[in-house]
Amino acid sequence: MSDPTTPVTCRDTTWLVSCARDGALTPAQASQLAAHLSGCTVCQIASKQFGQLFGQLDTLLARDPPS
Ligand SMILES: [Zn+2]
Repeated sequence: MSDPTTPVTCRDTTWLVSCARDGALTPAQASQLAAHLSGCTVCQIASKQFGQLFGQLDTLLARDPPS
C-alpha cells in the first residue's frame, strides 16, 4: 500500500473503498480516499457501483448464513 503522503491511484481507491466498507480504514486512508474521489469521476462512479455490488452480496450471503 502507498504511504500516507502519496496520492492514491485509481487502483488503490478500489481497494480503499472495499476496506472502507469494513470500517478498516485509518483516518489517513479515509482522507486519501475522499481526496481522490473528489477529483476523479471514474472512481466516484466505481465506488457507487461497488456499494451496490456489496449490497447485493450482503443480501445473498444473508440468505445462506454460515453455520
Ligand atoms: Zn480514480
